Amino acid sequence: MGTDLKYKISFHIRLFLTLLLLFGLFLFSFLIFQFRRERLYKAERVNTELQIINTRLSHYLINPAAMDSVVRQNRQSVMENLRVTVMDTAGTVLYDTDQTLPLDSFANHADRPEIIRAMKNGSGYTIRRLSETTNKEYFYAAAFTGNYVVRSAIPYSVSLKEVLKTDKLFLPVMIGLSVIISALALLFTRSLGNNIKRLRKFAKLADNGEPLDDIGPFPKDELGDISNHIIQLYSQLKQTKEALESEHRMVEQQKLEQTRIKKQLTQNINHELKTPVSIIQGYLETLMNNPSLPPSKKQAFIESCYKQSDRLAQLLNDISTITRMDEASEIIEKTELNVSDIIRDVFSDLDAHLQEKKIKPVLDIPEQIIVKGNHGLLQSVFRNLTDNAITYSGCDTIYVKLMESGPDHYTFIYADNGIGIDQDHLPRIFERFYRVDKGRSRRMGGTGLGLSIVKNAILLHGGTICAGKREGGGVEFIFSVKTQ
Ligand code: ADP
Repeated sequence: MGTDLKYKISFHIRLFLTLLLLFGLFLFSFLIFQFRRERLYKAERVNTELQIINTRLSHYLINPAAMDSVVRQNRQSVMENLRVTVMDTAGTVLYDTDQTLPLDSFANHADRPEIIRAMKNGSGYTIRRLSETTNKEYFYAAAFTGNYVVRSAIPYSVSLKEVLKTDKLFLPVMIGLSVIISALALLFTRSLGNNIKRLRKFAKLADNGEPLDDIGPFPKDELGDISNHIIQLYSQLKQTKEALESEHRMVEQQKLEQTRIKKQLTQNINHELKTPVSIIQGYLETLMNNPSLPPSKKQAFIESCYKQSDRLAQLLNDISTITRMDEASEIIEKTELNVSDIIRDVFSDLDAHLQEKKIKPVLDIPEQIIVKGNHGLLQSVFRNLTDNAITYSGCDTIYVKLMESGPDHYTFIYADNGIGIDQDHLPRIFERFYRVDKGRSRRMGGTGLGLSIVKNAILLHGGTICAGKREGGGVEFIFSVKTQ
């Protein structure tokens, strides 16, 4: 119930009321203190005036006639109803201006508070006390002269009350000030309250994992800045956590994909190896079981076996390159080399084939393209692309161009003007064992691993590769290689 009420009254109002209460208490204590102090100050002033008369009278203590004259003078000039009493140190009254009563009928004055104080401190006063003698209220001021105590008193009349009354002029000032301070407190607590309200909302949303969109802006003050900072930090933390989670999911997916690819690769390898092996086996069995075969037939079978074994060797070679890149990519040795030399060497090695097919290479490359890379892998990039162009494209020109020379990489374009690759196949040609025309590729001695080797080699050199249709027919590969 208490907590319910606490939450029903907003933090802002609670804070404001608390401040107001504290301020009220302070103001009340201050006013009491101030009133007392002023009253005391005014009483001190009346006391001083009476003490002056006491001092003057102390010179005439042994001469009552002179004393009467001094009292009369004072009554005329200052205090109309001045009463003077003289006592000895024992409190016995020796003189009193009120001569209506005989002196011996006066009670002993030793117990009067102003007398006690005067005997102790030399002087003392009492603001308001009823006289037992005259049955009137007086303001008394007493002074101790050494042998006597002289006491002057004035009636506690309306006019004295007016004199002692505290000045209430500063009350309206204090009230005005209080109103201003309360208004300021209201403003201050409202901004603080807004901050707290929004922070509480933020905590609730964060707790439920909900989006922080509708918290609203924080007031533009220090607490608002801190609150904004907290929310920013929280958002960053959340983003980092989400990024980590998604990264973790991606790693898991990659792991699964790798396992799937490995499994598929093993299946494909088995399948690819089986074909040439069983062909070789078939020919050899026929040769063994038919020794009387004509020599020309035997020769043809042996040549077929050789062709298949050649294909097997090529397949094993490609598989070994691929697994080397997959499993030991970080230990692949890199040296500073000239890619221009590699390209020219590849074309000179394949010159006979190019001439046979009447293909003209157009090389638009500078003398020096220096990168830090693996010679064998970069060679296999240009070798496979050129082999493919010769084998599958039916082109008459191959174009190799250095398209861009960036601060940390080179971009090449490799194209031919042959039959090209259909759009349906383009996204898959870098997959392992993917062939556009399976029968034709096998017949041509292709393993289906060529472009996969090209892509992996480029990735290992910090680059990217994509294949597309060349304007004017044929296929074009755009790829980059990092210089370091
Ligand atoms: P392979 O190792 O069998 O040559 P690749 O991975 O190198 O296999 O090539 C995949 C397929 O892409 C080939 O079967 C071929 O049909 C097609 N291909 C590759 N290069 C070209 C090209 N320049 N022109 C036309 N088709 C091509």
